[in-house]
Amino acid sequence: MNRRNLMAALAALAAAPAAAQTAAADGMRIVLVGTSGPLPVRDRAKPCVAILVGGGLYLVDVGPESTENMMSWRLPVASARAVFLSHLHSDHIGDLGEFNMQSWVQGRERPLALVGPSGVDKVARGFNQAYENDHLFRRAHHERDGFRFPIAAGQIEPRVIRIPASAATATAWRDGDLTVTAIRVSHDPVSPAFGYRFDYRGRSVSISGDTMKWPAFAEASKGVDVMVHEAQDEAMTRQLSQALKGMGNARTSSMMADTLSYHATPVEAADIARAAGAKRLVLYHLTQAGLPIFTPEAFTRGMDDGGPLDWRLAKDGMTIDLPSGSDEIRFGQL
Ligand SMILES: [Zn+2]
Ligand SMILES: [Zn+2]
Repeated sequence: MNRRNLMAALAALAAAPAAAQTAAADGMRIVLVGTSGPLPVRDRAKPCVAILVGGGLYLVDVGPESTENMMSWRLPVASARAVFLSHLHSDHIGDLGEFNMQSWVQGRERPLALVGPSGVDKVARGFNQAYENDHLFRRAHHERDGFRFPIAAGQIEPRVIRIPASAATATAWRDGDLTVTAIRVSHDPVSPAFGYRFDYRGRSVSISGDTMKWPAFAEASKGVDVMVHEAQDEAMTRQLSQALKGMGNARTSSMMADTLSYHATPVEAADIARAAGAKRLVLYHLTQAGLPIFTPEAFTRGMDDGGPLDWRLAKDGMTIDLPSGSDEIRFGQL
């Protein structure tokens, strides 16, 4: 390892305040931490969106590989307050244990709230149990010279949100000027499944989680600055399913075909963003991005047909800053 690489590696380990922290001081910073679907894709972690707001870090989903991204970008993980789960598919929850452990080791002082549909209680219990030995080992080894590793602060604390049948949304979190609303979406047979909307000092973002085209999500996202919506191309999915069958992998081919029923196409996501009057649309959970059959041109074909819309495809590390007291929407890349 040459000196430059060594310094870069050390910088990634250092817990010094990251640029991300300062940018979030007044307003909201959104970081697309993981933007792939469940298939293995190089350069894309599985679904995870970070929101830095009011001095805290919040996540919507925490898919596999997302913690590594956050650590290497030096996001202020010790300030983590809550993880909101859209639903309980593995590609959305797989890194929960790692994220909880890392944010605690970095100095998180309170338990991590795990907010979401019924079942998050079971998920929290399981991860707490799986990491119990790890936390005890770390405390026994590292707790000295004033450095504390309180076991209680390392816990995941579930908070089940129930949206009554008569309603489409429920308040999921309130902290100062921040309100997070859970929005029922449709990812049947995975039910309940939620999207989330964050509102802070006049700025807003909504995140779909996994859903088919769902007008109630547009309704609950009215006027948002940014909509982050999942997207999966139908023709590419069929093509992939066929190819897998041809390669003798009937099992995966069949599973691939099943996914057509519970995701939204890029064109459908664009329709939903227009119906909501969203100022920007970012497509994520890009199941096919990175596969040989994928081209951005084919994937996004038809998105502009329904009228003007400012949209883009997410990449891991994409940032969106929404300063308070302003209409500005500033995109960047970590
Ligand atoms: Zn998913
Ligand atoms: Zn899913």
